[in-house]
Amino acid sequence: MKREILLCSAAMLSANAALAQPAGGVKVSTQAHAVHEAAIVLDTHMDTPALFSRPGWDIIDRHSVEQDGSQVDLPRMIDGGVDGGFFAIYTPQGPRTKAGDDQARAFGLVRATEIHEMVVKHADKFELALTADDAVRIAGEHKRFVFMSMENAYPLAGDPGMLDAFYALGVRMVGFAHFTNNDFADSATDKPEWNGLSPKGRALLAEMNRLGVIPDPSHSSDAVLGQVIELSKTPVVLSHSGARAVFDNPRNAPDDLIRRLAAKGGVIQINAYNAYMAKIPPNPDRDKAMAALRMKYRGRRLTEADIVAETAERRAILPAIRSLAPISMT
Ligand SMILES: [Zn+2]
Repeated sequence: MKREILLCSAAMLSANAALAQPAGGVKVSTQAHAVHEAAIVLDTHMDTPALFSRPGWDIIDRHSVEQDGSQVDLPRMIDGGVDGGFFAIYTPQGPRTKAGDDQARAFGLVRATEIHEMVVKHADKFELALTADDAVRIAGEHKRFVFMSMENAYPLAGDPGMLDAFYALGVRMVGFAHFTNNDFADSATDKPEWNGLSPKGRALLAEMNRLGVIPDPSHSSDAVLGQVIELSKTPVVLSHSGARAVFDNPRNAPDDLIRRLAAKGGVIQINAYNAYMAKIPPNPDRDKAMAALRMKYRGRRLTEADIVAETAERRAILPAIRSLAPISMT
């Protein structure tokens, strides 16, 4: 029987209150596990490539969120029945200057190369996917498929034409902005500057449609989301957002836009990051301790031992918070 593709966030597994406990210790219900095993499951936003340059960190080894803050590796993908997903080239937004653009483009190219290096190193377990058919074939060969995506179009250096180069490298989904506005679009977490897409953002969307790159308005403002749904000639994917009707946060989308997204064949993937799902009660002592911790490690190139130590210190401050993904990456 042909397996259907199921879009799902791997992080959601940890939210199951239940029951079966596969080898890796990830608790999922037997029912959820059976669904994942029967379907082709992908996660549409994995920050994991940010870990590929960590000395000694390898995706085929088992890690734990408690120890090093990581959420995805091959053993845990197998535990969760996750067949692949979009591995993100995430670039923090920096200065919108020639120098900033040049640096962002170089950063994006390096990250793209690191994704390719991971796939080459583990060619028996991972394979780059460029089309939906590739994903089906690769999953059928019991390997994990690796789509490449871009979170924040900053590495395009303000030039929609640059998408061609990243497309050639394998990028198939692009998010317009991140925590602050950029030359393409307004961010969900910044003040309106373009009132949606900029002229360059509209040109970028046209390039995405021409090439067959999925537009991803996660992190972009409601105005951007509405305009992308309206203008795009292909379905739109919110790779990691939530529903504002469930929790009022600018990173979450309002119901009317989610309905319009669905009406045009789009998909929303729920972000399981705690701050976007429920109100975290104020706690000045906790905030002070977190600020001190950030200062302690700020500006340092962290070794693996530093990361383990920092994760343990963070966990001591935030014992009840399960997802320890740094806010800068969510
Ligand atoms: Zn994000």
